[in-house]
Amino acid sequence: MKRLSGGFSGIAIVSFLISVILCGVLISAVIINKTHIEELQIEQLILEKSIRINEVISKLLYKTQALSAIVIQGNGVVNNFDKIAPVIIADDPAILNVLLAPNGIVSKVYPLHGNESIIDWNFFGEGAGNVEAMAARDSGGLIMGGPFSVLQGGEALVGRLPVYIDTPDEERQFWGLVSVTLKFSQILGEMSLETLKTYGFSYELWRINPDTNKEQVIAYNYDYAKPKSHFVEKQITILNAVWFLKIWPIYTWYSHVESWLYIVAGFFFCFLVLFVIQNNFELRQMKTMFEEMSKIDPVTGIYNRRYLDENLKRIICSLSRSNGVLSLLMIDVDLFKNYNDAYGHSKGDICLQTIAEVLGKNLLRADDFVTRYGGEEFVVVLPNTSENGARMVADRLLEGIRNRGIPHEASNVADYVTISIGVTTGIVQHTYSGDIYIQRADKALYMSKQNGRDMYTFLQLL
Ligand code: GH3
Ligand code: MG
Ligand code: MG
Repeated sequence: MKRLSGGFSGIAIVSFLISVILCGVLISAVIINKTHIEELQIEQLILEKSIRINEVISKLLYKTQALSAIVIQGNGVVNNFDKIAPVIIADDPAILNVLLAPNGIVSKVYPLHGNESIIDWNFFGEGAGNVEAMAARDSGGLIMGGPFSVLQGGEALVGRLPVYIDTPDEERQFWGLVSVTLKFSQILGEMSLETLKTYGFSYELWRINPDTNKEQVIAYNYDYAKPKSHFVEKQITILNAVWFLKIWPIYTWYSHVESWLYIVAGFFFCFLVLFVIQNNFELRQMKTMFEEMSKIDPVTGIYNRRYLDENLKRIICSLSRSNGVLSLLMIDVDLFKNYNDAYGHSKGDICLQTIAEVLGKNLLRADDFVTRYGGEEFVVVLPNTSENGARMVADRLLEGIRNRGIPHEASNVADYVTISIGVTTGIVQHTYSGDIYIQRADKALYMSKQNGRDMYTFLQLL
């Protein structure tokens, strides 16, 4: 994988992007899960509130039924209303008043004080809440009306029950309505909607007002912004009335410090991945570089003995399987001690570099290679090369060095630098080691030195 021009390697950037995606998926899953839990919590809360308000409102049922019983018992005449009504109210602070309305017109109300203005109110006439009053008459059962503003101030819920009595002319003749009015603020208090805030939720309680047929917000907590999308809304049925309770979290996910902690931790993790992978990549690159460097001779820039040992072993192993032939040339610079003495050691180094370059250039096959064996000695390895081929290469190398014409005034062989070569060739057996070839080539090299230098000697391996 290549290192990209920004400084980070491709693999580090890919790993970083993958970890960003993984963290993103994980964090979203956590946040979505949290939102689902919140929704379930809200649904639970709405259910609780729904049960609670129905419990509170049930008093409308039994209080109106008690009034109805009294009307029926008196055959439509209630004489001691002022004594009976307090018994029915029973000091319930939520009850604003109880009243009787024969034919829908209010005739008696308790307590009268503060409620005087209701006397003679016609429920079947024009006015707020009268639609529900008429519905009560027509339905024959208890109908809840409201909340609506009352003359006494504040808002009220009203339960109205139609009363039927038997007359000599008609069975179950409509007598009128009995009604119980509840203070809405008390009902809301008992529903304890305000506690929602402590759970971190806002709410809105609304209904379709039957008088106007429009949405009417009954109660709300708008301390915080209205919900944009994420809210839960459920229908609450109270007797005939249908209300809707909408609840939503005050804080969205991004308002929670927790969410940001997840995100910061996620990014920290992703950058950690980026730097760890990058570091690992650089270490591996350096390792490869050092490994390569350890196989290169610093003076000549060609492979060294270590490379030769490793590669020769590998080549022998591979050729032994196919009974392949291998040639090896041991090369030594002639009278190089004299060269150093005549030109100095650094010139000697430059000479070795030139020789290495010439040797390398004269190896034409891809598998052939030259290594610096040590001092002024070089080894050339020629895989799959027979005796003839090896002789040709040896000639070419001798000629190449001669032609280069590196002046050597301290040589008694020629005016220029020459080399001597020992050549060996043999079919590779799996029992062979590189040393067999080296020793044999060295022996041949010795013979070249003995026989006057600037030449090669061939010795069959075995
Ligand atoms: P011969 O023809 O018998 O090989 O004679 P020679 O002088 O080449 O042989 P000898 O082994 O006596 O001398 C080898 C010399 O090579 C000795 C040493 O100073 C020189 N030499 C070995 N390594 C280096 C090197 O890295 N740089 C330089 N400049 N000289 C080196
Ligand atoms: Mg030598
Ligand atoms: Mg020498």
